[in-house]
Amino acid sequence: MNEEHAVALFFELFSGLPRQGPGSPDATRRALALMPPLGATARILDIGCGTGAQTFVLADATAAAIEAIDAHPPFVAELNARAERLGLAARVRGHVGDMARLDYPPGTFDVVWSEGAAYSMGFDAALESWKRLLVPGGHLAVSELCWLTPDPPPECLAFFAGEYPAMRDLAAVVVAGDPYGYRTVGHFVLPASAWWDDYYEPLGSNVREFKARHGDDSLALAIAGQTEREIEVFTHYSGSYGYVFFVMQKPGA
Ligand code: SAH
Repeated sequence: MNEEHAVALFFELFSGLPRQGPGSPDATRRALALMPPLGATARILDIGCGTGAQTFVLADATAAAIEAIDAHPPFVAELNARAERLGLAARVRGHVGDMARLDYPPGTFDVVWSEGAAYSMGFDAALESWKRLLVPGGHLAVSELCWLTPDPPPECLAFFAGEYPAMRDLAAVVVAGDPYGYRTVGHFVLPASAWWDDYYEPLGSNVREFKARHGDDSLALAIAGQTEREIEVFTHYSGSYGYVFFVMQKPGA
């Protein structure tokens, strides 16, 4: 398989979407409401920001300065162009970076935010390594895919054995911050609408156009098929798993 071609196809399939993972403005605001209000001196780091769906909700709902980090340069460019357009460039800035290698001084941020991205470096590794970025008493808001029922159907288990074998029960993830000294502030499950409205529905129409464009490319069709399968699994089994938003606090305020 040509790795470069696969990556290019993957990003083509995921381009032009309102967001790059499950989430919604309501969910972002609900997680934000679990922490104290953020004034003009507050700093937020949004990790794995994509094109900034949640970044601009945070900018609207707070007076904080926001740095947004993503590994994919076109997403960061789109975020910065949108910040310019909205007159927010002084307060919202995207940077290309690796979430596993963030070299800010300790205690730089009041809030570390990450929607649908921490899994890519490992959820627990993310909790551990991002803690140093927070001020004492600072908050971490992070969403993670979890099993919601004790006995998911075999077909659903089989799909995630390939896609996300590290997926854990909600109850296990609620206490994942304990070893690192975080206090759990709250958590909630994203509703199915947060998967469909700004993510799977636009992604589904991207898949249809992508297949029409690449009908003779077997690699493209395989990538499209895997994405269709993911959406189909959610259609059938959305009660068995979901994205859960967790808000934790670093001790020592
Ligand atoms: N938070 C956005 C995007 C979620 S998709 C939203 O909810 O819409 C996950 C994002 O993480 C992608 O934009 C991907 O480019 C980014 N990402 C993956 N690995 C990364 C890494 N090591 N460092 C920084 N960003 C990464």
